[in-house]
Amino acid sequence: MTTTPAVRTIATAPDGIALAESDGMLYLLTACCGASATGTEHGVACRGCYQPIDDFMGDAAMVSDATGVRRMAAYVAVPRLVGQVVSAALS
Ligand SMILES: [Zn+2]
Repeated sequence: MTTTPAVRTIATAPDGIALAESDGMLYLLTACCGASATGTEHGVACRGCYQPIDDFMGDAAMVSDATGVRRMAAYVAVPRLVGQVVSAALS
């Protein structure tokens, strides 16, 4: 039996980009579709509408990687929330 890990939105930037966590992995959700990023032959694209998006949207980090958590929090402009991001993701 396969279970789908729950996706939790931890923070949302003013521009609509969201930081999400699933199964210990932090990643970004697009402003246009709330979808994750995917790689295409032309670069990084939104998994919802397949429009090209900034390369940084394809970044991801494990919650256990403090440097990665700071980097991911910075993408949504809430670096002061790093500790809360980690505790929220681990709770
Ligand atoms: Zn989209």
